[in-house]
Amino acid sequence: MPDLDPVLQPVYEQVLRRNPAEAEFHQAVLEVLDSLGPVVRQHPEYVDARVIERICEPERQIIFRVPWLDDTGRVRINRAFRVEFSSVLGPYKGGLRFHPSVLLGTVKFLGFEQIFKNALTGLPIGGGKGGSDFDPKGRSDAEVMRFCQSLMTELYRHVGEYTDVPAGDIGVGQRELGYLFGQYKRITNRYESGVLTGKGLGWGGSQVRREATGYGTVIFVEEMLRTRDRGLDGAKVVVSGSGNVAIYAIEKVHQLGGTVVACSDSGGVVVDEEGVDVEILKQVKEVRRGRLTDYVQERGGVARHHSDISIWEVPCDVALPCATQNEMDEQGAQALVKGGCAAVAEGSNMPCTPAAVRVLTGAGVLFGPGKAANAGGVATSALEMQQNASRDSWTFEYTEERLAEIMRGIHERCAATAEEYGAPGNYVVGANASAFRQVADAMLAQGVV
Ligand code: NDP
Repeated sequence: MPDLDPVLQPVYEQVLRRNPAEAEFHQAVLEVLDSLGPVVRQHPEYVDARVIERICEPERQIIFRVPWLDDTGRVRINRAFRVEFSSVLGPYKGGLRFHPSVLLGTVKFLGFEQIFKNALTGLPIGGGKGGSDFDPKGRSDAEVMRFCQSLMTELYRHVGEYTDVPAGDIGVGQRELGYLFGQYKRITNRYESGVLTGKGLGWGGSQVRREATGYGTVIFVEEMLRTRDRGLDGAKVVVSGSGNVAIYAIEKVHQLGGTVVACSDSGGVVVDEEGVDVEILKQVKEVRRGRLTDYVQERGGVARHHSDISIWEVPCDVALPCATQNEMDEQGAQALVKGGCAAVAEGSNMPCTPAAVRVLTGAGVLFGPGKAANAGGVATSALEMQQNASRDSWTFEYTEERLAEIMRGIHERCAATAEEYGAPGNYVVGANASAFRQVADAMLAQGVV
């Protein structure tokens, strides 16, 4: 455990006491507190107003039962959460995750990260997150629809375009968002487009939202590489995962002249030295909801599937973890360093364990933390909210340029703040300190609420 500033240590101990058995939440809090020593020494007013304790305590936490009927008529019960963490910068904003591993602590870690990520975008959005331990894998469309309708029958009272605006995350794509939106509209009798983001293009969605997280991560890593007079052109890249974030990260790497030689899912790793064929991957994953083993078959002998290796063992210049939390441990990071990796940017949330981050930064690998590197998704969600509010829709080119501008702005902001605190090139310090100051100043301005 890092040595925290003496002012921050008791705050962390209180988080541990108050939130037992929520290891991922503890990890996310510790990572932020570890960057804040110099900030609180410079701003004792944050300590006096107990801003940090307040940030660590969600404004509201909603937990509810979701009963639904499966295709055989059997009653199923899941648990759902919405953690409304901070509304100091805008309506709560953050995705919904459907995965059997989802617990309250998972949602709290994601919601906590989201406060700072959303601040970094410079757009008026607060932080929240939600989800359920429902597993959409292997469920029919009708089952997914019944589950989403049941979930929204409770969630609708807590969300709204000025209150709380969910989006997708693991296991929640356009199909799920469609069913959720339909039920919200039915219950409220309002066509309130701005209540959810990530909608389909024909019913209030934004161009580039689907691509935004992956594209944004790649734009961020390109900016990091530029500080060392390098770029993605000609680079060998590995991308973990093969879902929404991974697919569009792969697409953007290829557009910028790099080659993605490996991707993965929970069943294993695919190595494709000629470059992952993103059109086949989209067909397999997005259209047919298949597995990477299906991708390998369709590639006809070019790609290999491995269930016994870690993706981080594949030598590369750049690695983009885009699957899930804690997917890269110390060993994984060591393997990357050994393979010559120069930069890692987190497309997923908290994919690198603290030990992995120490190995990477210790070896001089450029490291872009998720709250900066994957902020493109939520930023484009905020652009979707803007378009919904003005009943407008922008072109792909214009929206992509806005996304790129935002990502370059986040990179610049993190780099400048890291310099200011005497840690040049440390994007973790830059992201945490810069976002925290913005949130803390707004909290001071708005009083004790
Ligand atoms: P998807 O559900 O589309 O894809 C998730 C991918 O990660 C799949 O390939 C999945 O494999 C793999 N995966 C998920 N859980 C595990 C696990 N426990 N172990 C191994 N592999 C796993 O999700 P997204 O692409 O939307 O999200 C990926 C990450 O990016 C998450 O951390 C999410 O929070 C983060 N993120 C997403 C944003 C978005 O806009 N979607 C925005 C910002 C961050 P399998 O199919 O085998 O389960």
